[in-house]
Amino acid sequence: MQTKEIQKVLVANRGEIAIRIFRACHDLGIHTVAIYSNEDTYSLFRTKADEAYLVGEKKSPLGAYLDIPGIIGLAKRRGVTAIHPGYGFLSENADFARACEENGILFIGPSSKVLGQMGDKLSAKEIAISCGVPIIPGCTEPLRDAEDAVEKAVSFGFPVILKAAAGGGGRGMRRCDSPEEVRTAYELVHSEAEKAFGCGDIFMEKYLVEPKHIEVQILADQHGNVYHLGERDCSLQRRYQKVVEFAPAWSVPQETVEALRRDAVKIARSVGYVSAGTVEFLVDKNGGYYFIEMNPRIQVEHTVTEMVTGVDIVRSQILIAAGYPLSHPEIGLSRQEDVHIDGYAIQCRVTTEDPANNFAPDNGKITAYASSGGFGVRLDGGNADVGTVISPYYDSLLVKVTSWDHNFPAACRKAARAINEVRVRGVKTNIPFVTNILAHPDFVAGRCHTKFIDETPELFD
Ligand code: ADP
Repeated sequence: MQTKEIQKVLVANRGEIAIRIFRACHDLGIHTVAIYSNEDTYSLFRTKADEAYLVGEKKSPLGAYLDIPGIIGLAKRRGVTAIHPGYGFLSENADFARACEENGILFIGPSSKVLGQMGDKLSAKEIAISCGVPIIPGCTEPLRDAEDAVEKAVSFGFPVILKAAAGGGGRGMRRCDSPEEVRTAYELVHSEAEKAFGCGDIFMEKYLVEPKHIEVQILADQHGNVYHLGERDCSLQRRYQKVVEFAPAWSVPQETVEALRRDAVKIARSVGYVSAGTVEFLVDKNGGYYFIEMNPRIQVEHTVTEMVTGVDIVRSQILIAAGYPLSHPEIGLSRQEDVHIDGYAIQCRVTTEDPANNFAPDNGKITAYASSGGFGVRLDGGNADVGTVISPYYDSLLVKVTSWDHNFPAACRKAARAINEVRVRGVKTNIPFVTNILAHPDFVAGRCHTKFIDETPELFD
């Protein structure tokens, strides 16, 4: 494999992750191109790139960032050599990766073939099975209809969970505790899956009660080197969506952590994975663990892994796409043993959601804004400043605040201090709610599972 110099990277995304990627490019001396929708005309991220172009003038706010021919056409006209898709939008779209490949543009991510395999949760489970990695008991084929679902639920035993095969972002999932609930949920998940993901296939798993969500960060180059960067605990979730994440997963037994890391590498290796990716598992109270899916892209919570390993994951993705091995001096991993986990990092997602109003997204103009900082505090923001108008069109992530310290309780205190230095007026934020999580004794003691938030009403006070 030859290395190919990357001169100009287009980021097919917006907000904080676009800025994160521009920064990695600029650190490497690479020229950057932003795309933006009509609605993002005044958004900060576009000013952080060397060039910025309006896309999807006649499309919806989301459609602009999903316009494959429009984005590829622009990239070709502007001499772009590589595209980074970020997360969400086209990041897991095999057609987009293929369009890049066919147009001589490097796609900074895995191959379109691997995206196709991992985009479908059922085919990803098949891969786990073939690697001998445990999966949650459930069906391995799409359900035929509601009656098929009821029959299977009865044979697995309640509770069960219905999932869209193409689902993501915590959508297209429903827990069911009775045959009646399965019947109703089947229709709901089916139509939601068709509408949101363009594929109505749904399947069923046993619902695990109070597991932890632990995920392993993988980096793999084009030369067959596959290393893990340790794991993250992403159990703090609201409605299947992550709120606070930390690394390492210190409250899980060490032998389980070792097994997860080993199995994650095994899965990545078996599909010839290249780039950064995350293998997700649920871990039950007895230390049993189960593969749930692989996310073949950069994740929102990659910052915590960067803080404890010192490895710049986005930079690594770019160098890997250019053909460099993980031993490249600006990645610095000649072997697995070169990955050192140092200290504890916690990421808080500060969102413009109102905890007092069932987390409804709040919109409007930011009238006052103060940032945070200090030793061991990292901010990844997209748009937060005085005068910024928070629109209803996109996700409500305002800034990610990641805090590092030598031990977990110290990291919790620092995280609370750091998010409370962030002052926002004009729109509501979830800062009071996240502060309650960080101060909760169960959180500090590592006793949290995926239902902790839902089952802890005092967090909402
Ligand atoms: P998505 O792709 O939408 O992120 P995942 O399959 O990664 O969905 O699951 C997201 C979350 O949903 C998990 O972290 C967990 O909290 C919950 N979940 C998924 N499958 C199960 C299950 N079988 N039992 C209990 N909770 C589950």
